[in-house]
Amino acid sequence: MRKTQLIKGIGVTPGIIIGKAYLVDRRKIEAPARVIQESHIPQEIERFQEAVEESKKQLRLAKDKLLHEDAAGPSYILDVHLLLLEDKNLIENTVETIRQSWINSEWALKINLDRLRKVFDSIGDEYLKSRKTDVDYIGERILRNLMGKGKETFSQIKEEVIIVAHDLSPADTAQMAKDKVTAFVTDMGGKTSHTAIMARSLEIPAVVGAETATHHINTGDTLIVDGITGVVVVNPSPEIMQEYQERHRARQQMERELFLYRDLPAETLDGYRVKVLANIELVEEIPAVLQHGAEGIGLYRTEYLYLNRKDLPSEEDHFQAYKKVIEGISPHPAVIRTLDIGGDKFMSQMDLAEEMNPAMGLRAIRFSLKEIDIFKTQLRAILRASAFGKIKLMLPMISGITEIREVKKILNEVRLSLSAEGIPFNPQMEIGVMIEVPSAVAIADILAKEVDFFSIGTNDLIQYALAIDRVNESVTHLYEPLHPAILRLVREVVKAAHEAGIKVAMCGEMAGEPLYVPILLGLELDELSMNVLSIFRVKKILRSYTIRECRNLVADSLHLSTPNEIEELVRESLKNKFPEEFGGNLNNRLPLS
Ligand code: PEP
Ligand code: MG
Repeated sequence: MRKTQLIKGIGVTPGIIIGKAYLVDRRKIEAPARVIQESHIPQEIERFQEAVEESKKQLRLAKDKLLHEDAAGPSYILDVHLLLLEDKNLIENTVETIRQSWINSEWALKINLDRLRKVFDSIGDEYLKSRKTDVDYIGERILRNLMGKGKETFSQIKEEVIIVAHDLSPADTAQMAKDKVTAFVTDMGGKTSHTAIMARSLEIPAVVGAETATHHINTGDTLIVDGITGVVVVNPSPEIMQEYQERHRARQQMERELFLYRDLPAETLDGYRVKVLANIELVEEIPAVLQHGAEGIGLYRTEYLYLNRKDLPSEEDHFQAYKKVIEGISPHPAVIRTLDIGGDKFMSQMDLAEEMNPAMGLRAIRFSLKEIDIFKTQLRAILRASAFGKIKLMLPMISGITEIREVKKILNEVRLSLSAEGIPFNPQMEIGVMIEVPSAVAIADILAKEVDFFSIGTNDLIQYALAIDRVNESVTHLYEPLHPAILRLVREVVKAAHEAGIKVAMCGEMAGEPLYVPILLGLELDELSMNVLSIFRVKKILRSYTIRECRNLVADSLHLSTPNEIEELVRESLKNKFPEEFGGNLNNRLPLS
């Protein structure tokens, strides 16, 4: 009997899988560095170009497989990789390096990959930073093809297995035959990595960031992979096995039941109705939004339009994206947030000055009001798209009333020029602001008179209110959504909005966390906008409470003085209703390896 071990990583796709491990060697391969003779340069360039073509072929095959498996949603990730394979920065510069420096393809590629990585390294935002891995995956793929190691190993797998690897690219994940690979575990990766997004879309249970998994697991080991808690049990004892088998059955039953929430209204037991919407970064996410029954897009982060390209997006680029979003989601509304870049979010097209305190620097609306031409291009496109459905405009990082007035002035100029050109738009398009700076909370009553809606961005509001850098790992334990200060701030915002007769949404991560649902309801938010995968669970919870219970929970919470006390109170309430999900936890009883 082999020793039972427990490894803790990050669960990215809900589901419990029990099966045999299959260790895949996906460790980085070393690029050989050679100087070549001048006469060999054309041949070397051809070798490089062939490897790039081979890489494209493999990615297209992976994409076909996705489409074939009815998982078109995440295929945009492979499109991004295919685009990178056309990227001048990488491909043409590598060819140029071979030509100029007389070195082999592997070396030239490495030099150019390092350059590109440096650019991505300067990104602070976790989501955008994780996109650097796209460059890594592409580099690795070309390198493997150059060295004759490009063939995927998954097609050789003949029986059901759980893949264990140091890292997997999204294309690797896409290629996993659904019937053979039941789950995967990787040493690397985070919740927002593309591999994780891909796994979620393909609904393959997975644990990433398990750090030492490949050291502890061998091919043939029995594994339990818990994609919810991020726990991997290696060679479980018979008792643990039995407990997990029961949990697995219960979970399967629950997943079946959860799907029923798709078409049920988001309302409490006593009929208090809220709206559940989706946050998106890409147009390609619309099918998933529809599949999960979202009542609209509560936050479209338009930053992605500016990434993976050298030049700025044109008005037409913006317009096409917004038109697709609104046509896809109509008759529901879509809230388009203007560019939230600068500071910790990076944009390659502009040479922004380095800042001491980027989170408090030239970010979001401050950037737009400085770079008015860039802002006007986006506003024109949003207005044009407003002729095709219920588009709402949202401004990020508003800290005072002057910013709103300045935006309105610019928006008016844009409207006038569109009218003069005879281009249609909705003159009544709603304008809202994100409430994510404490000063905006303090003057919420004043702001509420100027705009049509509020949306609370807790990711930033918590950062600024508690003075906790949201991307600094050493202070994450202090990042507490249930801090009494945060609850009070949210309460103030809701009060000001409702007194002025406008709606208030929440679109930070807090809105999609099941644990916070009763509190958010009790605080009387009108809309919750979240990652699509959270929608069913959030609906399930809100449909099992009365608004009275939620209000009481908030009233009791506001008498408590620490986040822990509040969390305990909420957990206790949830445990009574959902003993399975919020009850005892097997993790607490197993030794960590
Ligand atoms: C927020 O701050 O909560 C938010 C939704 O915006 P972002 O995460 O894009 O800063
Ligand atoms: Mg924000």
